Amino acid sequence: MIRAWLSLPLWLLALWIIAMSACTSMGSHNVLARSGVDFGPPESLSFCLLIDEGITERAARELMEDAWREEGALYGLTIKVVSVAPWPRPAYTMQGILDALLRHPLHPQCDRVFALVGRHVGDVVWGLIGLPEILGAVDDNTSTHGYAVVQRASLNQVFMSPTSVVRHEIYHLLGCAEHFNMSGCYDTITAMKRRMRDDGSDFFPAWDGINERTLVSRDAVNARLLQVTGAGRTSQH
Ligand SMILES: [Zn+2]
Repeated sequence: MIRAWLSLPLWLLALWIIAMSACTSMGSHNVLARSGVDFGPPESLSFCLLIDEGITERAARELMEDAWREEGALYGLTIKVVSVAPWPRPAYTMQGILDALLRHPLHPQCDRVFALVGRHVGDVVWGLIGLPEILGAVDDNTSTHGYAVVQRASLNQVFMSPTSVVRHEIYHLLGCAEHFNMSGCYDTITAMKRRMRDDGSDFFPAWDGINERTLVSRDAVNARLLQVTGAGRTSQH
């Protein structure tokens, strides 16, 4: 009886820590694997940002810069913020937010659409009791659309800074689907950069994780978005 009572909080604590660490980082860098990879010449990835009420354009740009400065230097891949538009958070749940996001097609100058959303009162309650909350997600169908919750208000975000949440989602937007497989992620980034260069394209390729294929143009992404809008979908977070 006492044992069961004792083990319950530990079990909960363990679950909490696992859930937290699963969302905190993509994984540790694999320096040995990375040193063997030639990431090729510099490229850039163009972001069209959507920002919630209460987040300034300046703060949004700084956050993107801080999140990717060091990683960008490693991969020869800079992030260019090409537009910033207001976007009031459309829903409380991850699915609701993704549904609304997927209704934004990729415009000619955008490679990715990324929303920075503020907090909802429900997040705060959820966060205060220490339950793992979803701080960001990227749609699996195209890997081109995602969001991060960036205002600090919960216990979870004491451990997960907005910068690390944004960085995590950027990895998903690059096509790195698996957590803790950095060596696979280096290969993915290299392959995407090479494909863009070989095609002479101005679009940074994207990964359709459902059909396991690379989308090499904005038209291909937009066609896929039309297919999935309204249908069931999955996501990574
Ligand atoms: Zn993730």
